[in-house]
Amino acid sequence: MLSLSRRATLAAVSLLALSLSACTSGPSAPGNGTEAKDAGPSEWQAQLTDGSDGRDWPAFGRTYGEQHYSPLDQVNTDTVKRLGLAWSLDLPAGNPATGPIEVDGILYFASGYSIAHAVDVRTGKLLWTFDPKAPEAAGHKLRQGWGSRGIAYWNGKVYIGTQDGRLIAIDAKTGKVVWSTMTMGKDDLRFISGPPRAFDGMVIIGNGGADEAAIRGYATAYDAETGKQIWRFYTVPGNPKDGFENKAMEMAAKTWSGEWWKYGGGGTVWNAITYDKESDTIYLGTGNGSPWNRKIRSEGKGDNLFLCSIVVVNAKTGEYKWHYQINPGESWDYNAAMDMQLADLSIDGKPRKVLMTAPKNGFFYVIDRTSGKLISAKPFVTTTWAKSIDIKSGRPVEEPNVRYEDGPVTFKPSPAGAHSWTPMAFSPKSGLVYIPAIDLEVTYDDKGITKENWKRTPGMALDYGVNVVVQPSKGAKILSYLVAWDPVTQKEAWRLPTPGHFNGGLMATGGGLVFQGHPDSSFTAYDAKNGGVAWNFDAKAPVVAPPITYSVDGKQYVTVIAGMGTSAGLFGPLLAKFGIDYRTQTRRVLTFVLDGKATLPAKVPYKPQAVDDPDFKANATAAKAGENIFNVRCAVCHGGGAIAGGTAPDLRTSGAILSADAISAIVHDGALVPNGMPRFEELSVEDRENIRRYLRTRADDLRKGRP
Ligand code: CA
Repeated sequence: MLSLSRRATLAAVSLLALSLSACTSGPSAPGNGTEAKDAGPSEWQAQLTDGSDGRDWPAFGRTYGEQHYSPLDQVNTDTVKRLGLAWSLDLPAGNPATGPIEVDGILYFASGYSIAHAVDVRTGKLLWTFDPKAPEAAGHKLRQGWGSRGIAYWNGKVYIGTQDGRLIAIDAKTGKVVWSTMTMGKDDLRFISGPPRAFDGMVIIGNGGADEAAIRGYATAYDAETGKQIWRFYTVPGNPKDGFENKAMEMAAKTWSGEWWKYGGGGTVWNAITYDKESDTIYLGTGNGSPWNRKIRSEGKGDNLFLCSIVVVNAKTGEYKWHYQINPGESWDYNAAMDMQLADLSIDGKPRKVLMTAPKNGFFYVIDRTSGKLISAKPFVTTTWAKSIDIKSGRPVEEPNVRYEDGPVTFKPSPAGAHSWTPMAFSPKSGLVYIPAIDLEVTYDDKGITKENWKRTPGMALDYGVNVVVQPSKGAKILSYLVAWDPVTQKEAWRLPTPGHFNGGLMATGGGLVFQGHPDSSFTAYDAKNGGVAWNFDAKAPVVAPPITYSVDGKQYVTVIAGMGTSAGLFGPLLAKFGIDYRTQTRRVLTFVLDGKATLPAKVPYKPQAVDDPDFKANATAAKAGENIFNVRCAVCHGGGAIAGGTAPDLRTSGAILSADAISAIVHDGALVPNGMPRFEELSVEDRENIRRYLRTRADDLRKGRP
C-alpha cells in the first residue's frame, strides 16, 4: 500500500500530533474515536470516517458526514499569513468548478467533461489523465449540464460520472479504466453532473434532467470492484399500471394526481448523497418536480412524494426507511439537493445525531437523522415565500399566492437557490455552519398556461410550465453572503457580503479558518469565529469550486481549482462585471503550503468586444423569435440576454454569428460537439436564422452600450 511508505517517514510523528490535537478540541464529530479503530486496515478507509485525523481528503466532503471540515491546524489563524502558492497547474478550456480529492499524496479531480486527472502533490507534476470523451457520447444529454462537480475514491480506484451517463472506475495508479457501466437509458435525457460517493464497497450515483425533460428520478448503487448494479431507488412513482417497485412507491403514488408519469415527475438525485456509517444508511436529497408547475404535473394536488425531500434508504439494499419532505407539492424548483451534513450536536442539553441542510428554499434544517423528526428550521436569508416551518408537521407555512394561483407573484429566494450546489462547511470546533448564501428574488406567472395547452419543448430545453424571472431585488447591491450559522440556536453568528451572486464552496479547518473563493478572483481565509479576513490571495481567475486540505510529509496543503463553471453561467448579466470569458479565462489547480513561494502570471483583463457587423439591419420580429428559442435552448450555457458568464463563449463576440453556414455547421451539424456544444438538428433554417438575428441584435446592443 502507498500508505505504508508514507507512514514510514518522520512526518508520521507530526501527523500523529495533529490527530491528537484534533481529538481533544471541540465537540466530537459523529463516530469520533471508535470508528477510526474498526474501519479496517487501510488508511484511506479510516480517513473516510468523520473523526479521522485529516491527513487525506478522500471524498467530496472529505468524510462520509460531508462536513467539508478538516481537523488539520498547521495552517491556522496565526500562521495563515505565511500561506503561499506551492505550485499551480494550468487546465484546458472546460468546467473547472469541481471538487478535488487527495489520497496518499496524490490529488485527483475531474474537470471539463469529467476528464480525470492525477497530480503528485509534492511536485505538482501531472501523473496521468483519462478523457472519457463524454461530449461525443452524450447526444442530446449534452444539451444541459456542464461536466463533473466531483470525484470519488475507493480501494485504489477513482470514480467519475459522465455527461452521457456512464459511471467509470479508473485505476488510481495508472489512469486505466477498470470498469465502466451505463447508469441510464442511452437516449433518455438524463445526465450526470454531481459527484459519485463511495461507501462500504459500493459507489452511488444519481443524475439530473428534470428541469428540461420528462425525467423520473433515481439513484443507483454499484459494486465498487466490479461495477455490477446492487440496487436502484426511484424517488417518484411511475405508472401504477406497470406495478410499483416497492411499498414506498405505492405510498408515494397516493400523493400524486392525474397522469403524472407522462411528465416524468422529477425528483432527481443530482447532487446530495450522504452515507451514515453508524446506521448503514444513505440519505438522498431530491430535486424539483417535472415540470415545476404542479397544476400541470399533478392536477394542482398532492404532496408529490418524494420531490424536494430527504429520502433515507438502507445502504446495503436500497430499501426505504423514512423521508422528510422539505417542500410538499413543490412548485418553485426548491430542491432539497443541496449538501446534507451529519453531526453530533448537543441540543437542549441532549446529544442529538443530526442531519443539517440548507436547501434552495432559504431555511436551515436540523433534522434528527435517526428518526427523520424535524428539530428546528429557521431562515438563513430573507425568505418571503413562507412565514415559518411548522415544527410539528414539518411543513412550511406558505404565504398567500406563492403557488401563483391568483396571478404573478414575487418573492425570495429564487430558484437559483438561497444556497446552490457549492457546499457549505460545518466546523465541530467552532460549532458553526458556513453557508455560501445567495440573495435573489423571483417572479412566477403561469397566466395562459394550462395542463391542456402546455406541451413540453422537445429535445431537452429549459421548460418549467410556468414563466420564471430571476432577478436581484430592486436596488439590491449585495447578492450573496457568507453566513456563519449556529445550528443549535438557529441564529446567525456573523455574515459577510460576498462579490457577485454566486460564491464558492466552503471549507472549515481545525486551524480556526474558513476558506472560500469568489467570482472576483479572490480566494480568502476567514477567521471562523468572527469572519475577519485572515488571508487573501489573488487567484487571477474566478474561484467557485470547493477547496480541500490534507497533509503530506508533515506539511499541510490547501488546494482549490480556479475558473468559472457550472450553472452560474445562466446568470451571465450578474457576472459581467467580473470580466470572465470562456475562451481566454484561466483555469488552474492552485495548491498552497506555508512559505510557498510560487507565483502566477499576470491576469489578462477581459472586456467583451462585439463582433464587427457592418451589414447588420435590425429586425425586431425575427430577433424576438430567436430570443424565445435562445432562452430555452442556449441561455443555460451562453447566458441570459446572451451575456455569457464564463461557462460558454459570449456569442455577441463570435464571428460565427456573421455566417449562416457557420451557424449551420455548429448548431445543425454539431461541428463543435467535442468542445461541449451540442447539436440542435431539429431547428429549422428559419429558427437558426432567427437565433442569429437575435445574437447580432445583442452584439449591436453591446456595440452601442445598451444593456
Ligand atoms: Ca432544478
